Amino acid sequence: MSASVDRYRVRPGQRFRLADCDPEDNSTFDGEREAAEAEFAALNDRLEALQELLHAEGRHRVLVVLQAMDTGGKDGVIRKVFEGVNPTGVRVASFKVPTAPEMARDYLWRAHQQVPANGELVIFNRSHYEDLLVVRVHELAPEKRWRRRFDHIQAWEQMLADEGTTIVKFFLHISKDEQRQRLQDRLDDPEKRWKFSLGDLKERERWHDYQAAYEEVIDRTSTDSAPWYVIPANRKWYRDLVICRILVATLESLDMTFPQPADLTGVVVT
Ligand code: AMP
Ligand code: MG
Repeated sequence: MSASVDRYRVRPGQRFRLADCDPEDNSTFDGEREAAEAEFAALNDRLEALQELLHAEGRHRVLVVLQAMDTGGKDGVIRKVFEGVNPTGVRVASFKVPTAPEMARDYLWRAHQQVPANGELVIFNRSHYEDLLVVRVHELAPEKRWRRRFDHIQAWEQMLADEGTTIVKFFLHISKDEQRQRLQDRLDDPEKRWKFSLGDLKERERWHDYQAAYEEVIDRTSTDSAPWYVIPANRKWYRDLVICRILVATLESLDMTFPQPADLTGVVVT
């Protein structure tokens, strides 16, 4: 994998600190904005082709996990990075406050139901990690209970990987000031106001608790089989570019080929 792709991967066994990651960083691209857009457009085409291949080959399963603070850009990434991919074979699973049937079961149950099948790429918009984030920050479960989830999740993801699922996890890293700006923009823009909720301000008060929770999650659950990438996300163009590079590199590493049907020589369509 190229250096620019590897740079944001969190290596297991190394103490991870969020403070070492600059949300403004754009150091793997030095050029004009137009050049970044051109690179992105080419990568987006490539992603489209690779997803087609994934679907045609039908042997691999790909799980993309998206986590971020409010306004971090999860929706933007889904719209922009996956623009143009064939909706057949790509699915978004969004994880909200658990419903009654979900609450009546273990926390991984709803996530497991949404994992990709052969040939499928599934994007988790939020994920099972909420059970170590919002649940921890708001004390929705006792610490004794959620603490064990680091191990559960590692083991569960390892099982998925062993059974043929490729997992990539992205944390879209924005600064607290960038979040202030984005929330303000939502308030000011009539077409964005629907996304704003007063609850977002309450959550913002817990910024540091969330950052601490994210830091431990990323530190303890980035593995070779299910790596975390911490993406500088203050600049949307850079965030999308880096994510697209990582997805393309990940799909290329699968060495997929179009299926070769039985001998069709001489077959003519009349
Ligand atoms: P949104 O992504 O803006 O639609 O918001 C979804 C909400 O669901 C967020 O406030 C999450 O914190 C919340 N949520 C997601 N998963 C869980 C969970 N396991 N327990 C409690 N709240 C959750
Ligand atoms: Mg929200």
